[in-house]
Amino acid sequence: MWCCPDCNWRAPPLFRKTRTSIGFDGHMTTQPTASHFVNGAYHGNAGGSAIPVIYPATGEEIARVHSATDAVVDAALAAARAAQPAWAAMTGTERGRILRRAADIMRERNHELSVLETFDTGKPYQETSVADATSAADALEYFGGMAATLTGEHIQLGHDWVYTRREPLGVCVGIGAWNYPTQIACWKAAPALACGNTMVFKPSETTPLCALKVAEILTEAGLPAGVFNVVQGLGDVGAKLIADDRVAKVSLTGSVPTGRKVYAAAASGIKNVTMELGGKSPLIIFDDANVENAVSGAILGNFYSSGQVCSNGTRVFVQGGIKEAFLDRLSVRLEAAVIGDPQDPKTSFGPMVSERQMEIALGYIAKGQEEGARLVCGGKRLNRNGFYLQPTVFADVADTMTIAREEIFGPVMAVLDFDDEAEVVPRANATEFGLAAGVFTRDLTRAHRIAAAFEAGTCYINTYNDAPVEAPFGGSKLSGVGRENSKAAIEHYSQLKSVYVRMGDLEAPF
Ligand code: NDP
Repeated sequence: MWCCPDCNWRAPPLFRKTRTSIGFDGHMTTQPTASHFVNGAYHGNAGGSAIPVIYPATGEEIARVHSATDAVVDAALAAARAAQPAWAAMTGTERGRILRRAADIMRERNHELSVLETFDTGKPYQETSVADATSAADALEYFGGMAATLTGEHIQLGHDWVYTRREPLGVCVGIGAWNYPTQIACWKAAPALACGNTMVFKPSETTPLCALKVAEILTEAGLPAGVFNVVQGLGDVGAKLIADDRVAKVSLTGSVPTGRKVYAAAASGIKNVTMELGGKSPLIIFDDANVENAVSGAILGNFYSSGQVCSNGTRVFVQGGIKEAFLDRLSVRLEAAVIGDPQDPKTSFGPMVSERQMEIALGYIAKGQEEGARLVCGGKRLNRNGFYLQPTVFADVADTMTIAREEIFGPVMAVLDFDDEAEVVPRANATEFGLAAGVFTRDLTRAHRIAAAFEAGTCYINTYNDAPVEAPFGGSKLSGVGRENSKAAIEHYSQLKSVYVRMGDLEAPF
C-alpha cells in the first residue's frame, strides 16, 4: 500500500500496491503482516479462499487475507486450549497488568490504529481517532483493573461453611460484525481474558485487519502465546469454531438471523452465549425538548458511522409542536456535514462499508418512497468513487412502513409524528427488537417514566448512543442475550463453583 511520497514505509506482503492516498500528513507505520494470529505470532496460510479487503472510500482492493483452513482453525483452538490453564493460574493482578499495558500501547498508537480502522471500515478518521482504538483501550484498562478484584464469597452455615470460587469458562470464541472491528474485539477479549479465559476471535470478513493489530499489541504487552488468537473467514469458519468441543462460550456481535444460527449451534453443546444483535430503536422527541440537543441526538443516533451502528435510534418520533422546527434545523445541520475522503480529519461523514451494504440501504430508500414516506433530504448515491450515500431523512413515516419496521443499517432516518405520551410509548415498543431507546424532554418525571417503560436494554435521556465501558450494554427481545462492558460482563465470562466445607463429623442414614 502506498502511504505518502515522503514515507519510507514498505508494504508488508498482506497489502496490495494501490494508488490510494491517505490524504493527510499521517504515516502508515506498522500493519498486520499475515492473515491470522495464532499462538502468539502472525500465521500466514494461503490455503483457504482469498478474501479481498476493499477500501470503502475508493472501491480499491488494498489488502488480501485468506480464510482459515481446518488446520488453522484447529491450530488456533489448540493454542487457546493449551494456554488457558497457565493463564488462569496467574494472579488477577498479573493478568490485569498485561491488559492495562496493552491499553497504554493502543493509546500511544491511536493515530496509526485509527488510520487502519478507517481503511478497514471507511469510517472518517475524525470518528475513528476518538471512538475505536480509544474505546478498545478503555475496555482493556477497565477489565485489566478489575481482574485483581474478581473473587468468590464466603457463606457461613453455623460451624460449617461454603465458599465460592469465580472460575473462567475456558476457551471462548468471539465473532465480530464489521462496524467496529477494533472495539468489538476488545469488548469481548478484555472481560474474557480478565477472567482467565482464552479466546479465538473471528472478525467479519468485510473488516479483517484491525483485530490482527489487537492481537499483536496484546502480545507486545506480554500476553502469553495462545491466549488471544485471530482467524479469518466467513460464516462457515465461525460455525466450525462454535461446533468445536473445546469451546465453552460464544460471544457474537451480528444480525438477528446470524444470532439465531449461532445461538442454536451453541445450544446443542449447552455452551454459554452473549448475543449482541440488531435493532430498530425509537427516539422520542417531545415539544418541550431543546431543539438543538434533540437534533444532535438524532444526528448521533442516525448518521454517525454512516448510520452503521446497531443501537441507532432510527425511528424518530417527533411531537406535533416541535416537528417543523426539528426538521428545519436537521436539514440545515445535515448540509454542514463534510462528506469526502475519510482519512481527511475535516471529513465528518464517510462511505458505507461495502457496495452490498450501500445497495441494501438504497433498496430501503426506494421502498420508503414507494410506500409514501416524504423524502426530506438525501436519498441518493454520491457521484464519486466509493460507497457514498447521502444522509437521508424521511418524514410522515407510518409505523407500518418497511423503513419503520426493518433494520436498515445505513444513514436513513425515519421521522414519525405523535400527539401524546400515552400514544407514543406503546408505538415505540411495538417492535421485535429491544436494543436501545431514547427520549428528549425537559420534564424530569416523564423522562424517567418513559425510560422505565421502554422495552430496551440501553436507554438514553437527553442524549443518544453513549457507550462507556462502565455501563452495561446489550439488548432485550430479539436484540440479544447477555451484556457487554461493566461489571455485568464478568457474569458472562465466568462461572461460580460452590465448595461445601464440613467442620465436624458427618452423619448418614445407614
Ligand atoms: P452478520 O450477522 O452478517 O455477521 C456477524 C458475524 O457472524 C460475521 O463475522 C459473520 O461472518 C459471522 N457469521 C455469519 N454466519 C455465521 C454462522 N452461521 N456461524 C458463525 N458465524 C457466522 O452481521 P454484520 O457483520 O453484517 O453486522 C451487522 C449486524 O450486526 C447488524 O444487524 C447490527 O445491528 C449488528 N450489530 C450489533 C451490535 C450490538 O452490539 N448489538 C453492534 C454492531 C452490529 P462473515 O460476515 O465473515 O460471513
